[in-house]
Amino acid sequence: MAEFLSTPIAYLKGIGPQKAALLTKELGIKTYQDLLNHFPFRYLNRSQRNQCAHLDLAESYVQLVGFIKTIQEVGVGRSKRLQCTFSDDTGSVTLIWFQGWKWIKPHLIPGKSIRVFGRPKRIGNAWSIPHPEISPTEDVPLSGFQPIYHSTEKLASVGLNTRGIERIMAQLFEQIDLRNHRELIPPSLAYSLDLISAAEALKKIHFPNSESDFSAARKRICFEELFLLQLEMILRKGLRKRTEPGFVFEKSGALLKQFYEEKLPFDLTNAQKKVIKEIRRDMQHGEHMNRLLQGDVGSGKTLVALITMLIAHGNLFQSALMAPTEILAQQHFETISTLLNDLPIRCALLTGSTKKSVRKTLFEDLKAGDIHIIIGTHALLEEEVVFNNLGLVVIDEQHRFGVAQRAKMRHKNTLAPHVLVMTATPIPRTLAMTFYGDLDVSVIDELPPGRKPIQTIHRFDNHRSQLYDFLKQQIALGRQVYIVYPLIADNETLDLKSLNDGFEAISRSFPLPDYQVSMVHGKLKPEEKEFEMKRFIDGVTHIMVATTVIEVGVNVPNATVMVIESSQRFGLSQLHQLRGRVGRGGGKSYCILMTDYTLSKEAKKRMETMVETTDGFKIAEVDLALRGPGDLMGTQQSGTLNLKLADLSRDQSLVEMARKTAVNVYTEDPALRLPIHEALRSYMLSVFQNKPQWDKIA
Ligand code: ADP
Ligand code: MG
Repeated sequence: MAEFLSTPIAYLKGIGPQKAALLTKELGIKTYQDLLNHFPFRYLNRSQRNQCAHLDLAESYVQLVGFIKTIQEVGVGRSKRLQCTFSDDTGSVTLIWFQGWKWIKPHLIPGKSIRVFGRPKRIGNAWSIPHPEISPTEDVPLSGFQPIYHSTEKLASVGLNTRGIERIMAQLFEQIDLRNHRELIPPSLAYSLDLISAAEALKKIHFPNSESDFSAARKRICFEELFLLQLEMILRKGLRKRTEPGFVFEKSGALLKQFYEEKLPFDLTNAQKKVIKEIRRDMQHGEHMNRLLQGDVGSGKTLVALITMLIAHGNLFQSALMAPTEILAQQHFETISTLLNDLPIRCALLTGSTKKSVRKTLFEDLKAGDIHIIIGTHALLEEEVVFNNLGLVVIDEQHRFGVAQRAKMRHKNTLAPHVLVMTATPIPRTLAMTFYGDLDVSVIDELPPGRKPIQTIHRFDNHRSQLYDFLKQQIALGRQVYIVYPLIADNETLDLKSLNDGFEAISRSFPLPDYQVSMVHGKLKPEEKEFEMKRFIDGVTHIMVATTVIEVGVNVPNATVMVIESSQRFGLSQLHQLRGRVGRGGGKSYCILMTDYTLSKEAKKRMETMVETTDGFKIAEVDLALRGPGDLMGTQQSGTLNLKLADLSRDQSLVEMARKTAVNVYTEDPALRLPIHEALRSYMLSVFQNKPQWDKIA
């Protein structure tokens, strides 16, 4: 069967070498298997009929039966288009093609009965359907669903439009013996999960007879995709744990106790305690820790990092804490030095701007083991940074570090140091499961007590004078204010201009000497940035005008107002991150989202979501629904997942089910040696062909 499915597509009846080459070039279809995996993206319900006079925007697709009245090419140059008037008994609509009508035009014969399928649009009182699918009415059987396949203009020109693809698909199904089709999911499991067989699903995804056929097929295929992915990740994690030993941190050390008792200015939250327990458990037994720590802005991740580093110290290991920006590294260094105060532990800072003379002794001390905790930026990755005994690497805001950079840190000791990656960008659970399924994930799902919720307000630009009055009131109360401008993609000059204009306007409305204003942007030299930041942190300036360089991690408790200009240009997670800069002290805090008056539907939804909730995980869910996983995680990362049908935002409950099932299978039979897992085992062996140890060691 497997052999049959790898037959080149050219051998299928009706497909010669030329069409085969075109299928490969246009759609990547090389074999029978590839063709089977070319799923319909939609189905036409043949029993559904709409009427020209009763179209409704609520219906995304409609099917009309009638005839063409007139055909016209209108416009010139780029706006040239083909326009037809199409009528049925009830009225008329306009069919429009903006391109590629050469092939369609011969089929448009006035007076001849045709069927039209498409997505209607209303302009004023008139309805039109851009780029509809058309077919002769006699072509249409009376009931059931017709699959609609992606095709291209070139394929259509050799007869392989959606109907053509449907025909070759049917041809292929006639030749396959589905009884021998590969089945990876044991029947007992399929039964308990209410899944149809792989063969049945394949047949029904292409040729469903009913809505329920389709949904059963889709469920089965999506589940299999997600399940295989989860199982692969669980196997990888198991493999890593068995083959990559880690340092044993069995003690907690005297300093940790002293820190708890004498230095810690507050109690840990329950979430912090839980996470610290998880981390300690990881590091106790000689397994290598690779843990992702997720926690909303302000949830107290720094403290968790510090405690983890104290545990490393208690076991005579050094730690490194790496941050994405100089300001952030500096702040971590200050926070941590202050917390550690006079404890006998030495902490140092290394960034790009650390002076040469300082570096020299710093490197020597680090190598001699006299520095216990080093905090820094990318500078820590450099070759010349040599440790005496590095045991732990903490990475803050992991989105900004690449895999290669993390790998560099791993080679700074005989065994790979434990890795704790911290991120303040909440990722929906199902995405975390999918993208970080081979990491362990801890979540701080609780903020320290006593935080007053930040009040978020959406205002249009024409309310600027009221805004400024409000800012003046706040400044009079001794508070500080951020005003953030968006980065204009790829255009630093424009960026700077909008920021400069803003700065000027603000300087006019908030004149010296009563008001002091700082400005920070990406074009400043690090020293200049530092200087401006410092003036704000020290309370010398009242207003910080900035681009998103301040997005990550900066902590100024006295700043209680965050104004975000042109908020519609920001994504939800960025807005949430920016808002997290306020609400860090005792004072009541505000986030004010300034936008244009007219907003896209999505921008409106973003503003509403921000006003409604401060829960980072809820925001992440909305973000996922709005943007899809590709945008959220970076397309490159999503691309590697190779999901054909499953949709990580739509199929969240299937992701959960797949994860749970994969965990169960792995727990019961980690090497997949049970007879019922035979097919699964050989599939996984092929996936792991470069790492055959998976099978041997389990
Ligand atoms: P983030 O998770 O965003 O990195 P931080 O570690 O910067 O958050 O912590 C935010 C603020 O909360 C800091 O001022 C920190 O001192 C404070 N904090 C952390 N843990 C607690 C706690 N358990 N109780 C009270 N305040 C805390
Ligand atoms: Mg932080």
